[in-house]
Amino acid sequence: MEGLNVMMKAANEKGIFDGVHIPNTNISLSHLFYADDALFIGDWSKKNVYNLSRILRCFYVVSGLKVNFNKSRVFGIGVDFEEVCEWAGPLGCAPSSLPFTYLGVPVGENMNKKKAWKPIVDKFRSKLSMWKAKTLSLSGRMTLAKAVLGNLPTFYLSLFSAPIRIIEELENIQRQFIWRGDAEKATVHWVAWEKLKAPKQVGGAGLGSLRNLNLALLAKWWWKFKTRPDSFWARIVMGFHNPANRPWFCFAKHNRGGVWSCIDKAKNGLWKLNIDVKEIMNTNDGGLSWRSDFVVDGVFSVARLRNRLDRASHLICDGDFWWLNSVPKKVVNFIWRAKQGRIPSAEALRKRNIQVPSTMCGICEHVEESMDHILTSCSLARNVITMVLKWCNVLPQFFSGVNEVLDFARNWGHCPKKKELLTCIIYGTLWSLWKARNDRIFKEESSKPAKILDYIKTSIFTWRKYRSSSGDIVDWDKWCCAPLNCT
Ligand SMILES: [Zn+2]
Repeated sequence: MEGLNVMMKAANEKGIFDGVHIPNTNISLSHLFYADDALFIGDWSKKNVYNLSRILRCFYVVSGLKVNFNKSRVFGIGVDFEEVCEWAGPLGCAPSSLPFTYLGVPVGENMNKKKAWKPIVDKFRSKLSMWKAKTLSLSGRMTLAKAVLGNLPTFYLSLFSAPIRIIEELENIQRQFIWRGDAEKATVHWVAWEKLKAPKQVGGAGLGSLRNLNLALLAKWWWKFKTRPDSFWARIVMGFHNPANRPWFCFAKHNRGGVWSCIDKAKNGLWKLNIDVKEIMNTNDGGLSWRSDFVVDGVFSVARLRNRLDRASHLICDGDFWWLNSVPKKVVNFIWRAKQGRIPSAEALRKRNIQVPSTMCGICEHVEESMDHILTSCSLARNVITMVLKWCNVLPQFFSGVNEVLDFARNWGHCPKKKELLTCIIYGTLWSLWKARNDRIFKEESSKPAKILDYIKTSIFTWRKYRSSSGDIVDWDKWCCAPLNCT
């Protein structure tokens, strides 16, 4: 292909093929190559059509590489389609019209139209059915929604600003996936969508907003534009949009439209979040390098900017939550929901008008089954918590709510490692109490406090052994006698 590149350059310079002149530059654009894909761009003239055909023929004779005309298309911009059909003949390929897809990206499409985003919406939906989401736990679905659904459309979102209704549609698919597992049956959305999207620093689940991902991906182009002003594409952008040749100021002539205008307009998204663009693109005094919190080791961090935007969208902190890595995700997700009173206790189901056989606690039988009751104040919970604290050699305490017990563990003692371990044990205890409650209701199995304690000991021992980065607990006997000394 390098040979063809040299031939095209020479043809362009000698006036055998007239490329497109980019205003305010000395660039004459005649061809773009990517791997074995080639795009020839030039004035709409018979001379160009015939000479391009000859150049390709010469290239075949000298290199043996033949262009597959069956796979090639001719496009005329601002030209009648009949004329395109007529001129496609000498080249031996089919006529076509805008828009078209090149390397997976739509070219010449109006991206404000809903239909332009259909491939992305379809891909989102297809992933939902493929994953057999019904077999996954809530935390598994959240992980997938974040890791895959959140990253699927980046190819589009890094070039085009998605219309707000598309963002809503995509987020709606994510939301349905997380709470329903499939799109067929209706279930309760236990936690507000905004809270799921909010960053962990403000008490959210850190799912992130697609709109903010879109803005952060577009902002990366400003950085690319500023740090690589000599690259071919940047010179073309500068020629079209920045005639005064101000390379250190990102700028677009909006009446020209196109992808770069769209990238420039992302600034409006930042202003809406009360973020000054200077915070993101700030050059040093000489204007020769980029200075910003969003550049890490010389590379622009989309994740960092997205987090900043997500935080700006959720200014109010909903209380700190400790997302412990040493605890399985399904457990830590459950505790996060419990902290906000968002788990399906009989009382919570009744409040949402969902029929349950009885709203009374299956153990006390005369108290309504609320979340705080199941996990802290029911006689079974009190017994188990007392036994756990005794096992940990911590003075006995009585708690009247989940937040109280979580605060107690978080603020206990002075050693950060012991604090983390006690919090881990409390997470495990609350999870085991919830599991025991479900076993009683759905399997009609009742567990004695001692059996629940054994379950807590073994499961947390396994978590610590296989999940903890330090992997410090290896002695089972020591763990059973004094767990907090195992740090
Ligand atoms: Zn009870």
